[in-house]
Amino acid sequence: MDFGIRNNENGTFCIKCNCKVEVTMNFCPNCANPLNIDAFKLFQEKLKLNNFKLLKYIAENTKDEKTLKLIQKLTKKNI
Ligand SMILES: [Zn+2]
Repeated sequence: MDFGIRNNENGTFCIKCNCKVEVTMNFCPNCANPLNIDAFKLFQEKLKLNNFKLLKYIAENTKDEKTLKLIQKLTKKNI
C-alpha cells in the first residue's frame, strides 16, 4: 500500500488521490490514505484489529467445526 505526500510548488498533495493536504495532517481528508509513517502504522494496527474482530465474529457464529478450528489456528486461540 502506498502512503505519504508529495510536494511541489503548488503545495502538498496526497500521493494516492492528489488531493491537496496540509503538512500537519495524518490522513488525507479525501481518501483517508495515511500521509506519514505514524499514521500508516496506526492504519495497519486498525486493519489487524478489524480482521481480528471479523474472525471472532465468524468463530462465534459458525457451526462448521473445520472453519472454527482454522480460525482458532489463525488467531492462536486468542478468541
Ligand atoms: Zn488522498
